[in-house]
Amino acid sequence: MSIYDSRLILVYFCAVAAVLGAALGSFLNCAAWRIAHGESFLKGRSRCPACGHTLGARDLVPVLSWLLLRGKCRYCGEKVSPRYVLTELFFALVTVLCLLRFDLTVLCLRNYVFLCCLFCLSLVDLESYTIPDGCLLIAAGAWLLALPFAALDWGGIGLHVLAGLVFGGGLLLLSLIMDKVLKKESLGGGDIKLFAVVGLYLGFLASLFSLLLAAVLGLLFVLLRRGKGEENGGQIPFGPSIAAAAGAMLLYGGGAVSWYLGLFGAS
Ligand SMILES: [Zn+2]
Repeated sequence: MSIYDSRLILVYFCAVAAVLGAALGSFLNCAAWRIAHGESFLKGRSRCPACGHTLGARDLVPVLSWLLLRGKCRYCGEKVSPRYVLTELFFALVTVLCLLRFDLTVLCLRNYVFLCCLFCLSLVDLESYTIPDGCLLIAAGAWLLALPFAALDWGGIGLHVLAGLVFGGGLLLLSLIMDKVLKKESLGGGDIKLFAVVGLYLGFLASLFSLLLAAVLGLLFVLLRRGKGEENGGQIPFGPSIAAAAGAMLLYGGGAVSWYLGLFGAS
């Protein structure tokens, strides 16, 4: 096989991944909206939020429908938020990166399920300030199911479980102390449970890195919202920052961890 052939195959796989990712991103976006508004996300057809017209297949092609209709509803002409097309493009990119990073393996599928859950719970958290337990359960279940394929011995498995307990438990303790000091809820229960799942996937060191990264992202997010004057009674969804940090560490954290270990000559 020539190099050109394998490159062609690579491009082909990336293209398929991008299309699948955009479609799944569209589904997760819709599911997140329904979860946030307390609706069943399997039943019912998609509707235009402005005129309520049921959307057909040709209105629901990810990215393309939005571009062809120039960002407007086919039936009422009302503008359709670019949020949809942006989340579809973003998740297409995430899907391609996941494929390139983990290849076509069971671990790739497991990590992709985790990324889907992180994406969905971020959208729900942005909309309704809650992190759905369902996403966390699916992520934890995928981790458990894929254990035979993970390059972990019993000690390694124990360390990852311990990381989940320590990060979940540590944050719970921290939030209880902060609640007492600030006299209001500091960290939501969902954020704490989410960090327990992040610990399972990433282990100690990468979880610690994601905690630091999440704190920085969370701070930027707060400043950005302040700048835009979007404050909702002081409520801040911390889920998207944790999810972005965990996703980045999952995809590219290996380098950061070995660099850190290298500082101590332990790499
Ligand atoms: Zn409409």
